[in-house]
Amino acid sequence: MDTLQIDDLQFEVRRSARRRSLEITVDRGGELILSVPTDCPDERLQDFVRRKRMWIYQQLARKAATSAAVRPKEFVDGEGFAYLGRSYRLRLVPPGESTAAVKLVGGRFVMPSTFAPEGRMHLIRWYTDRARPWLAHKVKAYSARMEVDPTGVRVQDLGYHWGSCGKGDWLYFHWKTILLPAPIVEYIVVHEMAHLHEPHHTPAFWRRVERAMPDHERRRVWLEGHGLEVEGLKED
Ligand SMILES: [Zn+2]
Repeated sequence: MDTLQIDDLQFEVRRSARRRSLEITVDRGGELILSVPTDCPDERLQDFVRRKRMWIYQQLARKAATSAAVRPKEFVDGEGFAYLGRSYRLRLVPPGESTAAVKLVGGRFVMPSTFAPEGRMHLIRWYTDRARPWLAHKVKAYSARMEVDPTGVRVQDLGYHWGSCGKGDWLYFHWKTILLPAPIVEYIVVHEMAHLHEPHHTPAFWRRVERAMPDHERRRVWLEGHGLEVEGLKED
């Protein structure tokens, strides 16, 4: 592996013939990745890194602060769980009081106490069931404007990705998208739909996103800054 050490910062250098510009990304574990054109001279890499140094330190500090703040949820009375950008408290009820494993009633997640030991699984199922029609509805709303006709929407665990598009023009979304505020989820939808035209983050890709959602930049920045709070995820 190609690495570059500049003072106390170490980078994994990824060279690509298709790339024109230099880019630094800080991945989930705080590793630094420097993506560069194949023939980029070392001097230019070093210059670039030195100019970006303050930004890098800020990113690292923010990541460290966020990962410290994320604690595993407990399925106890009063615990807060997100849904479309709002937090709802959990209320455990006696088993006879509700038949569904999870319900959102009167601004509370209601769960019979017998389901609490497997609470995470039940809540993920609830999120997935809510996310599917919500996302499908948004996809439909943007289809004509974005000139795509996706086969459909699948919601599942996508690891560290918010969304992806697969064979046969299926769109995939992480169930965790539905925890984010609606305008941010909408941005993820538009982003993935644009990938049906342009698989890579080329200028043409961003022009498509821009046409469909002129304020996408603001939403993307929010996602980069806050997305990790939803259990350490990043955009694809
Ligand atoms: Zn993308």
